[in-house]
Amino acid sequence: MRGEQPGALGSLRESNRENVVKALQTLGVASRADIARWTGLSRSTVSSIVAELHDEGVVVDRQESEREAAGSGRPPALIALDPSAGYALGIDFGKRHLAVALADLSHELLGEQWVEMTDDYEAGEGMVRAAELVDRLIDDLGADRGRVLGVGMGIPGPVQNTGMVGSSAILPGWAGTAPQEHMAELLDLPVRVGNDANLGALAETTWGAGRGSDSVVYLKLATGIGAGIVIDGRLFEGAGGTAGEIGHTTIDETGDICRCGNRGCLETYAGAAAIASLLSRSFGEELDPEAVVVRAAEGDPGCRRAIADAGRHIGVAVANLCNLVNPERIVVGGSMGQAGALLLDPLRESVSLRAIPSAGEDVSIVPGELGERAELLGAVALVLQEASLAQGARMPALQATEKET
Ligand SMILES: [Zn+2]
Repeated sequence: MRGEQPGALGSLRESNRENVVKALQTLGVASRADIARWTGLSRSTVSSIVAELHDEGVVVDRQESEREAAGSGRPPALIALDPSAGYALGIDFGKRHLAVALADLSHELLGEQWVEMTDDYEAGEGMVRAAELVDRLIDDLGADRGRVLGVGMGIPGPVQNTGMVGSSAILPGWAGTAPQEHMAELLDLPVRVGNDANLGALAETTWGAGRGSDSVVYLKLATGIGAGIVIDGRLFEGAGGTAGEIGHTTIDETGDICRCGNRGCLETYAGAAAIASLLSRSFGEELDPEAVVVRAAEGDPGCRRAIADAGRHIGVAVANLCNLVNPERIVVGGSMGQAGALLLDPLRESVSLRAIPSAGEDVSIVPGELGERAELLGAVALVLQEASLAQGARMPALQATEKET
């Protein structure tokens, strides 16, 4: 069920209208049929609402060349939200980089900027640099800052409902900080934080390998292992935002104690630390996931074996996920995801052995298309999907925090 319970015809219309706008926020450029499918509304209801939004200047006609070329006959008329109505800004804080990007409401990416950062930089320093980078991007593009609807922000660590960063092995200088509040103050704009796997899921469904499917799981395989789950075209975050912690799925209930306190979690088999320790006898140094992937590509048999075994273990957890969620597509990203067939073939085999046949047959497991841009673009997509713009052409600002502290 989508939307609110309508009390009267007027509010039913209002709620349908909100759904149509929401569909365009999610789909970017779409036909009326796409919108009908996404919302579950009839074609005629969609057409009449689109006509109304068109008259108000909220939506505009669009052409998209790839659609025109496909199939025979007249291409469907495509529409999008009026790009001039507002911008979405994304910021990604990586372990060694900082990046910002700007898109308009029709999902067109207008520009992005990246800078290298030193390892384990402090949160405060990172945010000041990010604010400078945002100013530079907006200046370079000649964009109107007053039209930025909101800012999405990616941090490779657990973000709690309170907006605080939990203890994080990945960005130790960030634990206990409240980046959402701090960044909102620095930019004087509403900010929403998302976790890296959820942002990857949003980015790949909006611009990458998950496009065109509305049940997608994005696997982020890097230092840790996480999943972003999109069901019915919407990110599923669970009751408290914890959904997708696939790295802490039990693989062996008598296995090693994980950093989460449980035993035999997937991360103790296929996380970066586990793989580094597997390879320590061969290399005598701690290899990070990027280095393992590079050496595997160069033909190192130990690294190839470590990646293949990780793929098999990940496949066990993914098979369970397929049984529960029955996704259409699994998009594999993160630095370990760059290993290609070396990782994906054993992963697929493991899934086809262990998932119930119907769930295994429904899913295609594909590499991500966005690489290290996934979190940045996901931060942009977070704003595109969450900005509240149902009420006429001018849009109120995105809600900064939905959950109470
Ligand atoms: Zn665990």
